[in-house]
Amino acid sequence: MRVAILGAGAKGICMLNAMVQEGIDATVFEAQSVPGGVWTNTEVPYMSLQLASRHYRFPDFPHPKSVDMASASYVQRYMHRYIKHRGLDDYILYNTAVTGLEETGQGVHVTWTDAKTESKRSSDTFDRVICTGQSSIPRIPAEYAAHANVVHTSKLSGKVLNQSKGKTCVVVGGSKSAAEAVYHLREHGAEVTWVARKFYSFAMYHAGTTIDFSTVIPCVPGIVSGKNQDCLFPLVVQDGDELDAGSGNTLVPAEYVALRAATKIQGDVIEVGPRSLTVRPKQKLNEATSDEPITVTCDLVVLATGYELNRCRLTGETKAVAQTVRVIQPDLLPHAMTTFGIINSSLQGAFMRRYLQSAASTSQLFDDFCAQDVNRWRLFLYQMHYLATDNEMADYYDYQVPVGAWLILASTCVVVLLVFLGIIAGVSHAVQAARSKAT
Ligand SMILES: Cc1cc2nc3c(=O)[nH]c(=O)nc-3n(C[C@H](O)[C@H](O)[C@H](O)COP(=O)(O)OP(=O)(O)OC[C@H]3O[C@@H](n4cnc5c(N)ncnc54)[C@H](O)[C@@H]3O)c2cc1C
Repeated sequence: MRVAILGAGAKGICMLNAMVQEGIDATVFEAQSVPGGVWTNTEVPYMSLQLASRHYRFPDFPHPKSVDMASASYVQRYMHRYIKHRGLDDYILYNTAVTGLEETGQGVHVTWTDAKTESKRSSDTFDRVICTGQSSIPRIPAEYAAHANVVHTSKLSGKVLNQSKGKTCVVVGGSKSAAEAVYHLREHGAEVTWVARKFYSFAMYHAGTTIDFSTVIPCVPGIVSGKNQDCLFPLVVQDGDELDAGSGNTLVPAEYVALRAATKIQGDVIEVGPRSLTVRPKQKLNEATSDEPITVTCDLVVLATGYELNRCRLTGETKAVAQTVRVIQPDLLPHAMTTFGIINSSLQGAFMRRYLQSAASTSQLFDDFCAQDVNRWRLFLYQMHYLATDNEMADYYDYQVPVGAWLILASTCVVVLLVFLGIIAGVSHAVQAARSKAT
């Protein structure tokens, strides 16, 4: 079996590691000159992990204890160190952009070029192709594209931030990238209006700790049921239909203070002008509720609108080929229950290694993963163990749940049961007392 992996970001590295461990012949094609994918972005000065660093690591390669909320450049170097640590460098072709995939009936014919000169380098046939990269192509909705004063968060450079002093800025989007942009623009002296269809909620992060677990407990049912209900610490109080909005990402206390104070408009942007945005508010925060459209003038619009699903920049005919059984796309890779980047990727790598020989379609693989292959309780304990420790850990399939974890789980269930029985006993006692008093 010969496997081509497109991209040497977190996912490509995890996939490669899993393949090499199994003795599968794998090659990574990376368009850039270094590994790390999104973490090679040097443009955004504040770009860092949005979670505690210990949540973003290869299971068998912990960070030094001193590293907390690491910067993008640290994460990029960390990934490179991991490649060297595992001896994976020889399997990666840098400066090599895959430009074509063609189904031959026996395999996928891959064509690649020199990423700098764009001259054709070579081509070869592989049994499977794994594409990676979910956050590489900024999503810029068409209505914004024509305007010069629009910048995506992935390009919010030091220069743009410095020039924002005293300017009116609108940040569009409700998740962590938006929160960071609002915070940093305000820190640079800009006057910011934050517009979002939905404002996400975030866990409070305290330096040196992992997550404040009091904010995590409410999301346990969502994690266990797999419904991704990250109902963490609310930044704003939402009405009923917003309750599913949440983010596993964290904010530090200073960000909370600043963001609570920021002007926010919850609603849809209905018109984009050269120096203005018109929003139909759903709920106008900080001011009286009204659904009259609001026009906000702005020198700068910052789009925190996320990323296009990256099909490894493959277009046209090639994109169509990329739907076949042999080509595995990032969106078809099964998502583990919680989505901490690298651990999720390494779970996917372990999963992929087990299933690579299978002739099933990738969507069938996904169903298998969800339906049969993953024991949710075991995975939940694995992930909790992973979050709680800085230890090296085996991948999910080799992981032995420590007896202590089962004991903690069992005793927690017993305590919950006792509390529940106590409440029932208390209530029935009170009802009986009330009845006998009445008679
Ligand atoms: C600002 C920001 C902050 C984030 N913070 C966190 C966080 O705190 N925690 C978390 O879990 N996740 C975070 N993420 C998500 C992050 O995207 C993932 O954690 C992870 O790094 C994605 O890895 P990847 O390998 O899937 O993709 P990428 O990192 O995008 O790597 C894809 C690689 O493929 C290469 N490539 C693409 N097309 C081709 C081609 N045709 N030929 C050759 N090479 C190609 C690209 O050059 C790139 O290097 C963040 C993302 C962003 C943008």
